[in-house]
Amino acid sequence: MKYCHSCRYEFKDEVDVCPDCGVPLHDTPPAPEKYREVEWVELRQLPSPIYVEMVKEILDNEGIPNYLSFHFLSSTFSIRGSSLVGESGKLFVPKEFRDEALELIEPLIDDEGADQEE
Ligand SMILES: [Zn+2]
Repeated sequence: MKYCHSCRYEFKDEVDVCPDCGVPLHDTPPAPEKYREVEWVELRQLPSPIYVEMVKEILDNEGIPNYLSFHFLSSTFSIRGSSLVGESGKLFVPKEFRDEALELIEPLIDDEGADQEE
């Protein structure tokens, strides 16, 4: 069986090029579209935007998909010094990556404020 990775159609082995798309066919099926139906979960509460940036960089380096949401950016872009204190962006990762991501970042996070987590 040959597979078109463009239209995801299957063809007989004799076929080398997809008649529909004109792209070369592969011997292996296309990768599952696992990121299309990702269930995003909040990674964890982070003490400050500095942590958010650090964590995001780590996740990027590890190839863990992530999505960042800053509440304060939706209200204003005029960020002045201390206005950021106490504001935390929320990092979202796909549910299946959550445990892996938490293990990576746990050592970085000072658990000082852990008691205040909901
Ligand atoms: Zn095709």
